[in-house]
Amino acid sequence: MGYGYRRKTCGYCRKDHAILDCEKLQTDAAEAEQKLKEWNTKYKLLAEKAILYSEAYKYEREKDAEGNSYYVYYKRDKERIQRQVNYRFHTEYEWDYDSMPDQLTNGDFCEIEKHRYTTERSIRRTIEKNKEVRAKASARAKKACSYCRQSGHTVRTCSQVKKDEMLHRKVHMISSYKYAKALSRFGVWTGAMVTGKSTMPKMATVAHLPTNPLLVPSNVETSYSRQPDGEYRRSSAKEVCKKAGISVEDLYDFLYLKSAFEGGLRFHSVGEQEGYYSGSNYRISGMAEVCFKTDTVKPEQIDEGGMLYKSSATLDHIYSRISARYNKPNQKERYGSNEINICRHIDDGYSSRYDLYEKKKRKEETWNKMANFVKENKDILNKIKKLNV
Ligand SMILES: [Zn+2]
Ligand SMILES: [Zn+2]
Repeated sequence: MGYGYRRKTCGYCRKDHAILDCEKLQTDAAEAEQKLKEWNTKYKLLAEKAILYSEAYKYEREKDAEGNSYYVYYKRDKERIQRQVNYRFHTEYEWDYDSMPDQLTNGDFCEIEKHRYTTERSIRRTIEKNKEVRAKASARAKKACSYCRQSGHTVRTCSQVKKDEMLHRKVHMISSYKYAKALSRFGVWTGAMVTGKSTMPKMATVAHLPTNPLLVPSNVETSYSRQPDGEYRRSSAKEVCKKAGISVEDLYDFLYLKSAFEGGLRFHSVGEQEGYYSGSNYRISGMAEVCFKTDTVKPEQIDEGGMLYKSSATLDHIYSRISARYNKPNQKERYGSNEINICRHIDDGYSSRYDLYEKKKRKEETWNKMANFVKENKDILNKIKKLNV
C-alpha cells in the first residue's frame, strides 16, 4: 500500500535509500574533516607508507597444523623496492629498508594498506559532496507536503493521508447505513413495484444510487426567513420538524430517500429483458408524496392513483449492497468525483457538493465536516458491527 514507493539507490553508498538520507556519507564526511586537518602531519605519511608497503611486500599462502591456509607478507629485496619507489613517487621519497620488518601478518599488512587510496583530493571531494547533499536535505525539510502543506515530510510519509482514508471509509459506512435505513423503511429497493404509464406493472431492478454514496447532513436548517418575532434567521431542523409534525429522524430519512430518488430508480416491465437502453426501462427520479405514518412514498411520473409497492429487502441486505460500492478517494485524480454531498439546508436544494481536494491538497473545511459527521454518528458504527451482513 502507498504512494508509488519504489526502490531507491543511494548515489553514495548504493544502498536502498535516497542520498539525502545517507548516514554513511555524513560519518565519512566528519572523518574526512579530521583527516584534512591532520593531512600533512599524519594521513599523507600513512598514504605514502601504504604505497611503499604494497610495493615492498609479497604474500605467500601458508598452511597451519590443521591445514587451514593463511597469508604471510614477505619483504622483497632492497633494489626491487627502490625501483618501484622511483616509479611510484614523483618526488624524492625517503625510506629505510632496515627499519621495515622482514615479514608481516595479513592483519598488520591490511592495517597499513587501507590508507593507500586516501588522497587530499578524495577527502575534499567527500566533504564537498556532503555539503551539497545537506543543503538539498534542508531545502527538502522546508518544502511543504503536497497533501497537508505541513513541512518536514512528503505526501509519501504524510500521516494525515492515512487518517483521512480511515475517516472517508467511516463516512461511507455511516452514510450507507442511513441510506439503507431510509430505503428499507420505505421499501425502495429491488422488488418494489409501481404502475407506470403502460398498464403493465413495473418492478424496480435496483435502487440506482451514485457509485460512491456519501451524504453528510450537518446542522440541517432552513434558509433565512422571517420568524414570528419579526427577525430574519434560520430555523433549525428541530424547529422545522416540530412545525411539520415529524421527527428529526423522519427528516433525515427523507433527505436520504430524496438523494436516492435523485440518483434515479430504474424499473422495468415484469417479464421483459433488463437493459439500460431498452424501451421497457422506466426511470423515476422524484417523489410526489411521502407519508411518515405509513412509511410509504408516492413517486412522481406514475399514473393517477398509482403507488410504490414496497420491496421487502432488509436494512442489513441493502446496507451490504450499498457499502460494497466503496471507492477510495484519490487526491491525484483530476476528473474523478472527489467530492461529497453535504446537506445544509432543507429548502435550499438539499445538498451541495464539496470537494475533498484542491490541487492534491486536502480541503480542510470538507474533512472537518466529515469528522463532525462521524463524531455525531458514532453509535451507528456500533450498530453496523451488529448487522447480519
Ligand atoms: Zn547511502
Ligand atoms: Zn502531509
